[in-house]
Amino acid sequence: MEFIYNGKPYKYDHDFGPTYPMDAAEFIFEEGNYSCDCNRSVLIRSKYGNVIPELDCGNIIEMKDLHVIQTKNM
Ligand SMILES: [Zn+2]
Repeated sequence: MEFIYNGKPYKYDHDFGPTYPMDAAEFIFEEGNYSCDCNRSVLIRSKYGNVIPELDCGNIIEMKDLHVIQTKNM
């Protein structure tokens, strides 16, 4: 997926592990914990560093191109 903050895109992938339910992964980003700026800003900073501030709760950070994929167990 891509997060958009201040007009800038930040590509982000999140691995929940192979046993995590797909609908739960979708839900957490669309309506759950990761739908909130406070958590999204932490996710972006965990990958890109101090490129954006740690945000309070809100919905400034947009998300697009959410794709949930199931990786097969080998
Ligand atoms: Zn929050």
